Amino acid sequence: MSTDEKLSDKKDALERIWKIRDYIQDLEDIKDGIVDFLNSRKKLDEVTKNLWISDVKGIYYSTVSAWELLYNMVSKGKLKHVDNSRHFLHSARGRLAKSISELKYYKEEIVFSLIKVVEIRFEKCWNAFYFEFDMLIPIVKPIARIIKVSTSKYHLLCSVCGKISVVYRIGTGRFDEHESLIYTGITHSRSLRKELASELFNILKNENLLEVHQFMQKYHSQEGLDAYCPQCDNIYCWEHYKAREEYDDGFYDCTCGTCPNGHQRMIDD
Ligand SMILES: [Zn+2]
Ligand SMILES: [Zn+2]
Repeated sequence: MSTDEKLSDKKDALERIWKIRDYIQDLEDIKDGIVDFLNSRKKLDEVTKNLWISDVKGIYYSTVSAWELLYNMVSKGKLKHVDNSRHFLHSARGRLAKSISELKYYKEEIVFSLIKVVEIRFEKCWNAFYFEFDMLIPIVKPIARIIKVSTSKYHLLCSVCGKISVVYRIGTGRFDEHESLIYTGITHSRSLRKELASELFNILKNENLLEVHQFMQKYHSQEGLDAYCPQCDNIYCWEHYKAREEYDDGFYDCTCGTCPNGHQRMIDD
């Protein structure tokens, strides 16, 4: 691509990103509406009310941070920082899920319309951001799916971006007294019995992701390997699995993932 073409691409991108501010403005309006609603309700104690209000504000402020990072990144050409922008956008979505579960405490008609509006407006922001993210990151398929780092450590890589999504290692976990087989996925970490390592490492040597998933279902939880989509037989990072935390009355309930091919499943419960 010539320098001229690159420059005009950049100009187009900056114009599009500038327009995302309209969606963010709509998000700000509904954020204010929800805050007013919460302030007008007397049923709630002050501490809870302030907490819920800060969750609602978090949706908006995290989206603004995501936008600032995206705009600066494109204008300064530091495309490597795209993950930071994405991180803020995902954190905004987490806050949205939490806020919605909190708002549902009120069984009033107006709440359902507030929820509907905030969901639609956030989704518009989300889609506009993702359009840019997809333009910025060339999708390169990594050659390796599993990397043997050492005899006691393995990495499993996202099949879209190559990011390390799962780590298995023998070590001492934060709350452990003895060495164990430590698993770190996209949703959580857990220590498994060290004796299981040889069975798992054998599976990893054969590059059989389905068997790793089945191993996790047997020794860890029904959801198995959180970063794995059984239908694609692929590993995805948090972003590419479009992981979505769900909340019940403000408390973490579970995480669901939708892979780039549209397959959905619960990845952590
Ligand atoms: Zn990825
Ligand atoms: Zn899939």
